[in-house]
Amino acid sequence: MKNSEILTCIQCGTCHASCPSGRYTSLNIRRIIRDSINKDVSTDPELWMCTTCYNCQERCPRGIKVTDAILTLRSEAARGGKILPAHMKICRSLIETGHAVPIDDKHRSIREKLGLGIPTHRKALDEVKILLESTKFNELIEE
Ligand code: SF4
Ligand code: SF4
Repeated sequence: MKNSEILTCIQCGTCHASCPSGRYTSLNIRRIIRDSINKDVSTDPELWMCTTCYNCQERCPRGIKVTDAILTLRSEAARGGKILPAHMKICRSLIETGHAVPIDDKHRSIREKLGLGIPTHRKALDEVKILLESTKFNELIEE
């Protein structure tokens, strides 16, 4: 990624030390920032382990927009057809049902227990589809 702001990174590690996801996964945001300067990180699965909590961005002593950089890298990866299979499944569910979490028997049961009822989402789904198509999101996940 060509981003002059990232070139000012001093590899202090504050971003990684602030990263809640990095405590439970192999995500090392400092390493991704470093590698993104001169390598293609679009196939790096750790790119998708960030929860976009913005801790790293708020704490970077250089004021580097670290989380925004992750989102840019993900967008580039998605445009190159490199969305991970698990995320692809969620994307398809979103387009087909309007929900990232499927309304299957298991989730129906949970909703009923919580008194949430079953969503009737025809109109909302149509609106979601219009939005996704207007951004060409649907084209990213076509076979
Ligand atoms: S906190 Fe900022 S300066 Fe420090 S390693 Fe992370 S991106 Fe680089
Ligand atoms: S925005 Fe992502 S990389 Fe930054 S601290 Fe949060 S989970 Fe970690």
